[in-house]
Amino acid sequence: MSLLTETETLSRVLDAVTPGLPQQVPLLEALDLWSAEEVRATVALPGFDNSMMDGYALRAVDSVGRQRLRVIGEQAAGLDQQITLEPGQAARIFTGAPMPAGANAVIMQEDCLRDGSELICEEPVVLGENVRRLGADLCVGQRILRRGERLTAGKLGLLASQGLAQVAVHAQPRVAVLSTGDELVSPGQPLAAGQIYNSNGVMLQGLVGALGIRETQAFHCADDLQATVALLRELLESAEVILLSGGVSVGDHDHIKPALQELGITPALWRVKVKPGKPFLFAQGQSSSGRKVLICGLPGNPVSSYVTFQLFVRPALLRWMGASEVSMPTLAVRVTEEIHNDGNRPHYLRGIVRGVEFTPQGLQQSHALHALSLANALLRVAEGATLRAGDEAVALLL
Ligand code: AMP
Ligand code: MG
Repeated sequence: MSLLTETETLSRVLDAVTPGLPQQVPLLEALDLWSAEEVRATVALPGFDNSMMDGYALRAVDSVGRQRLRVIGEQAAGLDQQITLEPGQAARIFTGAPMPAGANAVIMQEDCLRDGSELICEEPVVLGENVRRLGADLCVGQRILRRGERLTAGKLGLLASQGLAQVAVHAQPRVAVLSTGDELVSPGQPLAAGQIYNSNGVMLQGLVGALGIRETQAFHCADDLQATVALLRELLESAEVILLSGGVSVGDHDHIKPALQELGITPALWRVKVKPGKPFLFAQGQSSSGRKVLICGLPGNPVSSYVTFQLFVRPALLRWMGASEVSMPTLAVRVTEEIHNDGNRPHYLRGIVRGVEFTPQGLQQSHALHALSLANALLRVAEGATLRAGDEAVALLL
């Protein structure tokens, strides 16, 4: 198989994804997930004319000329006291309280004198002053949520303002992260010579978690064909997305491809024209009941794993969850130093965006996890391209 471009790879991966089934969940369970429904307003905002201030509701015309107005009642935020003002009358009113009938403005308490049951306006108010009008912010029937839109705290608040207690989101995929490698030791355990800690497991679970997928299961497998086959067979039953780390190359200790073959799974793609991340693999398997399972084989090198996750796995998970926007956020930047890619694959440099400047960060090699951990952006540098300090480019924000 020849190397696929990033675009071709991404489109093949995305073609395999079907969004999870819509389901209603309590608002807070939907925080940072994506809406599976369009919602239109059924409650106007404001829902009724109300006061913007603590003060007195009156007719604006009565506030002119320091006349004495009669205060005939009090309306706080809450149940409407059904007060009706006649000319020359005012009502004590508080922020958020419904406007009495007959009133058309509110004077701030700081701008008037109270004398027993009478009121003198020291500063006249104009018609509508300090009144929040029915529907000024939102009208009944207006669209307040689109399908695929992220449910931020603000959006959830807006849904709550409509009296809604639930919203439809797409069912999340059950994700399993399987780290392969004889050399791997779980964090917290002692390390012997030649061993390394399994950092990809936590990193990939973290990347998945950052997308709002609440639960992932983590597994480890030795570099052994039969063990790999057995574990994959189990995961095909329990998971909907399997993220594999390591073992996707062609070394004697890389068992993912042979294991998939033994399970009758032919990769839909393997090897991408991208640096880091060339060995990326994607396949579709199924459970014994015929349920579809996505299998993403990420390279073991931490930076390769991270970058291929961002480029190919993140969009797939977002599409599964029904997000309308699956590409990474971008920012127009200027590079602060000369950058040259003399390789034959596009290079995704790791770096730091400060303001609108991009600076490559640390060691640009596929094992350089520390440098990666400092980065907040990627910069795609096409094969053979040279960027000079000050050149414009587009950074992908992490
Ligand atoms: P592999 O893709 O299995 O050939 O691994 C490539 C490189 O990544 C090797 O140096 C591995 O030791 C390293 N590596 C593999 N898996 C992990 C992991 N889970 N955490 C950290 N490094 C890993
Ligand atoms: Mg390995």
